[in-house]
Amino acid sequence: MFFRNWRRRRVLARHPVADADWQAACTALPLLSGLDELALTRLRERCVLFLHDKQLTALAGVALDQPARLRLAAQACLPLLGLPELDWYQGFREIVLYPDDFLSPQRYRDESGIEHAWDEARSGEAWQQGPVILAWPGVLASGTLDGYNLPIHELAHKLDMLNGAANGLPPLHANMRLQDWAEAMQSAYDQLNTQLDTDPDAQTQIDPYAAEHPAEFFAVTSEYFFSAPDLLHDAFPAVYQQLALFYRQDPLQRLAPALAALAADRATPSAADPDGAHGETGGIPL
Ligand SMILES: [Zn+2]
Repeated sequence: MFFRNWRRRRVLARHPVADADWQAACTALPLLSGLDELALTRLRERCVLFLHDKQLTALAGVALDQPARLRLAAQACLPLLGLPELDWYQGFREIVLYPDDFLSPQRYRDESGIEHAWDEARSGEAWQQGPVILAWPGVLASGTLDGYNLPIHELAHKLDMLNGAANGLPPLHANMRLQDWAEAMQSAYDQLNTQLDTDPDAQTQIDPYAAEHPAEFFAVTSEYFFSAPDLLHDAFPAVYQQLALFYRQDPLQRLAPALAALAADRATPSAADPDGAHGETGGIPL
């Protein structure tokens, strides 16, 4: 513990973040709205430690300057802000930033033993004991309050992988019950799948990608938890409760003023949008 604290203090002292850069990062990230001074200070320190621990590898075409590194780190560290400072993002060191979506080779052996192989377009990937890959346009599109957040999605997979293969069950805290988690997640997952089985084009309350696999359900609902908690809470309140216990945060309460302002903005036709055609309420921007 002594060594850990000493090392931590040394890293923080040697890699200070300029106030202007930090302010710019916070301003650019609506999903940080409502964090108090104490939480922002903690987030700032965690960002420094994160950027020291992880190697961000930018491929050609990715403009990774210090403000961009900070924005990425702040989104990566936000989910851990309520948790004790342990090595939650362990088992990998590198985050690779691709300039665009990429093709990932997929394989599947069907019941008759025939192997199928195809390439799937991806904007992110998290490998067990391997790097996290993020497509830069997806990173740039993250940070707002619309339910989409690529860094949080892929890092949720990493939390899920802390206790084995990604299956939608990260290691729960001692004050949580496995049965409560399983019931909340399973019934919501089943409900979403039933809705999509009935109508594949259904306007689901959360991104239908969550219905692909229990691991995707956890990753997608984690995105909503931090960036559109109102939509998640409306759709699956029990899932919201379990994620609040897991992340030890209540973004629905913290973001309430920001979400209310956003809803008012959407409801009021702006000068650039005189007929209000793009100002309907109730739409889910994905
Ligand atoms: Zn995923």
